[in-house]
Amino acid sequence: MGYSHKQYLFAEYLMNRFGVSDQEFIQQFLDHYLSKYGRWTPSMDGRYNYFDVSAAIDSLLMEQNIKRNRYAIRKKEVRREYTTATDLSAFAFCPASYSINKSFEIPKTSNEREIGLGNYFHDQLNLLKKIKDVGVQKIETEYDIEADVFVLDDSCLQEIYSSTLIFNGHSLDTRKIFLNHETNVACVPDYIFQDIKGNNFVVEEKYHFYRDPRKLTYDEKLNYIEPDDIGRQRVLDRKSQIFHINHIIQVLAYIKNIIDYKIDYGYLVYWYYDFKENDENRTVPYLHKVSKKKILFDEYHRKVYSRAVHSLDGFLTSGRLEMRLDKIQPKKCAGCSVTQYCGHKTKKYTELSIPYSTDYLSLDNVEFPEELKKER
Ligand code: SF4
Repeated sequence: MGYSHKQYLFAEYLMNRFGVSDQEFIQQFLDHYLSKYGRWTPSMDGRYNYFDVSAAIDSLLMEQNIKRNRYAIRKKEVRREYTTATDLSAFAFCPASYSINKSFEIPKTSNEREIGLGNYFHDQLNLLKKIKDVGVQKIETEYDIEADVFVLDDSCLQEIYSSTLIFNGHSLDTRKIFLNHETNVACVPDYIFQDIKGNNFVVEEKYHFYRDPRKLTYDEKLNYIEPDDIGRQRVLDRKSQIFHINHIIQVLAYIKNIIDYKIDYGYLVYWYYDFKENDENRTVPYLHKVSKKKILFDEYHRKVYSRAVHSLDGFLTSGRLEMRLDKIQPKKCAGCSVTQYCGHKTKKYTELSIPYSTDYLSLDNVEFPEELKKER
């Protein structure tokens, strides 16, 4: 399950064209690209399934195309109005990604599928299903509702389930933007609840794809090997306790800036999903794990939040920022929604501008691999 030798050579050649030369980086990037784009697909005669990597190669070709025509990218005016909690989160994720998103009109980001799934799960209002007195109305989506069964241990959410919903950011009737005119920060949290002690808290949900540990691997199925589902579950249990700093900053922004209610703390909730085939042989997503982190605006988090705000402010004021090259990681870049528009994953540029300069998007002249020439 992976690239053929020739597919890998071609993908590596394209990465070299983009200016990425570190072999280790390329390998990890391409591996992660596969998990994002690769699909098990039925063969023409329907007798077997094969792992189709063509979407990963197509995405790299699309990046080459964008960079070839970089002067045709439509620009946006970078405005300094309200900073949103999501801006702070995006900036903390990667300043280059933030700058690209603010500078370019991007017709199609490379993680539309993830965004679509996130919206689907949000529309299903998983968190509200177990809360009393909330009339949850499911929204019909392209996926079968039958896949949406709770097959996970959600006991860690008990404190949320026993609270009262005050604000639902996913309801068209009650949704509003909380503006803080003093800090110029705008917030739309997923939910605000009141706990049984009368304290208010925000909840922010994030959805991550992660293979269900209970699923047998290809080898386990084929060779009747004893499944290591317990080992895999332990790995996921450990992973699910790691919460990304950019998401924490988003929750801190809500606690700090929402003034319509006094927000005492926040919860970050991570849901993990996988896919399965339903009775009609359609692949449908389902949730199999959930974890949560309680976040207080304490001294430590106050410093974390202030650093993020000052750094973003300085960037917008000066239009320049020094990129931390150690923060540019292959997996993160492969999963990034604007990777096709980014020149910083090459690690060639230590400076970052806003608006994002198209000069960062130049292509290198690289010899086409001999082995592939025969096929042209
Ligand atoms: S590809 Fe990497 S360096 Fe570029 S914007 Fe995305 S995360 Fe940042």
